[in-house]
Amino acid sequence: LAFGGIEAGGTKWVCGVVPDDSTNIRSEVISTTTPDETISRAVDFFRSEPRLEAIGIGAFGPITLDRSSPYWGHIGRTPKPGWSHVDVVGPFSSAFDIPIALDTDVNVAGIGEGSAGAGVGLRLFSYVTVGTGIGSAAILGGTPICGSKHPEFGHIRVPHDWEVDPFKGSCPFHGDCLEGLASGRALEQRWGVNSSDLKDPGVWELEAEYLAQGLLNLTLILSPERIILGGGVSSAPNLLPLVRSRIQGLLGGYLELPQFAPAIGEYLVDATLGAEAGLLGAIELARRFVCSEAQTFKYEQGDISWPRSQ
Ligand SMILES: [Zn+2]
Repeated sequence: LAFGGIEAGGTKWVCGVVPDDSTNIRSEVISTTTPDETISRAVDFFRSEPRLEAIGIGAFGPITLDRSSPYWGHIGRTPKPGWSHVDVVGPFSSAFDIPIALDTDVNVAGIGEGSAGAGVGLRLFSYVTVGTGIGSAAILGGTPICGSKHPEFGHIRVPHDWEVDPFKGSCPFHGDCLEGLASGRALEQRWGVNSSDLKDPGVWELEAEYLAQGLLNLTLILSPERIILGGGVSSAPNLLPLVRSRIQGLLGGYLELPQFAPAIGEYLVDATLGAEAGLLGAIELARRFVCSEAQTFKYEQGDISWPRSQ
């Protein structure tokens, strides 16, 4: 028996299978091109595993997660050409006749971190990704919290001092929401270069201010035991200590919790699984669909055998 997972992203799909008597995940990376080509290459990948019991998909959004909706598994209106209203689940259901589990890419990465990364053993934590966009999963007892829709942390409002930062923001819906001010896309639009090329300390102080405002709101609303930061922008050198110290400053000593005094190095941490979180989480999603949730996840970082080329 084996479980499959897909981290279905806007630039690449990472597909993997793991036999349940092994921890060695066989994976393949597929570039996200047209829906037909991308999905049929992914279907072909899973055809090579005859014992497949379920597939878990962590998809870029917006995507309908409500299983009772006729649009379950369909991508919503997206700026990605050709992908609006595409059914990303149907082709796998028809090809394999096995359960397909679905969640967002951010929730699935959160499940991965909770199963084998920086969230192991915690009851409630947040996984926040700061990359091209900004998103967050709240993981309670190993499972993402969802209500009428998945949380949309990237689009909360944070204070914006127009004199310090006249940039109007990059979000097509809200302008200067958190994602509009602090995502990789926002950094690129404000400064005119890729975020990995930004070296000026002032740039990162401003970035830390916005992230600290957002993460402080998250802390006060949800009271997570830990916030785990993933994504390309948040791995910028020296950003994490700046954000930590700004959160401390904004809190003003209010929360008398051991993880906040004297430093918050154990509270706001880097993701530990990095690029593996999405695929591990998607496979875990599939496994849970079939097995009892009481079983523990046994994979560790480094178990994925990454292909040499894409
Ligand atoms: Zn927005």
